[in-house]
Amino acid sequence: MFEQVLAAKKRLNSHANKTPVLTSQTLNTLLGAEVFFKCENFQKIGAFKFRGAFNCISQLSAQEKKRGIIAFSSGNHAQAVALVGNMLGIKTTIVMPNNAPKIKLAATKGYGAKVVIYNTETEIREEVTAAIQQQHGYSLIAPFDNKHVIAGQGTAALELFEKITDLDMLLVPCGGGGLLSGSAISAKSINPNCQVIGIEPEQADDATQSFYSGKLHSIPNPKTIADGTRTTSLGHLTFPLIQKYVDAMKTVSEQAIIEAVKFHMLRMKIVVEPSGALGLAALLSHSVKAQGKIGVIISGGNIDPATLVQILENKI
Ligand SMILES: *Cc1c(COP(=O)(O)O)cnc(C)c1O
Repeated sequence: MFEQVLAAKKRLNSHANKTPVLTSQTLNTLLGAEVFFKCENFQKIGAFKFRGAFNCISQLSAQEKKRGIIAFSSGNHAQAVALVGNMLGIKTTIVMPNNAPKIKLAATKGYGAKVVIYNTETEIREEVTAAIQQQHGYSLIAPFDNKHVIAGQGTAALELFEKITDLDMLLVPCGGGGLLSGSAISAKSINPNCQVIGIEPEQADDATQSFYSGKLHSIPNPKTIADGTRTTSLGHLTFPLIQKYVDAMKTVSEQAIIEAVKFHMLRMKIVVEPSGALGLAALLSHSVKAQGKIGVIISGGNIDPATLVQILENKI
């Protein structure tokens, strides 16, 4: 699998941003550890999802590209597929929930994709998507359960290890597990001693339950501010990869996530969306004990301005 991450890195070379690795002296002093943040909030579309989408879509056949692509997503995957579709001149349809953040909806439309809205209470997104897909012969670009997507997502951690090889620990947000499995493949191939820990909201702890029980758990419509992790369950590809390469799963409270978004903004001067702040939330709330050199993947920065204001004014 690591060969596929290395191949993805070559494919992404002149297309994806090489995102910065940032540190905070205040945080290091507070925790008595060294934390290195891989800032995918500075990736194209504001999240790591550009990596997986580009790696996957650029490998479609000429015929598949001609027919068009479709994806379902609460946000960042939608923007990623829409942007890559636009870059490669492919007709793109995105199926989005009626509760998707406005900023993500607007950005997806802005990249020229056709957006189809579904109702989360009454419709199942897979069914809505499959109907349109079958009608037009579009290729479905899965948000996480696809080997090319997983390999693409693994390139963010790969870049982090190229800068700092001797990390003791790597913290990665987990929704459907594409980012976590890709990151874990990179981490264990480069530095097998690095502990890879997946972080989830308490309210969406399906992957944590699956990891510790060995059986795939699912949580329909999980209620968490971390909208990037509102997936129902891990996938059939990501679950076994996580069981094989990940050392532990930890959860964080909604309050811890909010505190972490605030810390990123006020102390580090960077805009991080709730899902992107899960790693810092785990450290600040001591869900993960800070020790040695810690890598943290900040997965994205696409937060609704109104939500950010509410967080900064202590209104949620
Ligand atoms: C998609 C997403 C996640 C979760 O990634 P998975 O590959 O589904 O586990 C986390 N954070 C952000 C910002 C995301 O967009």
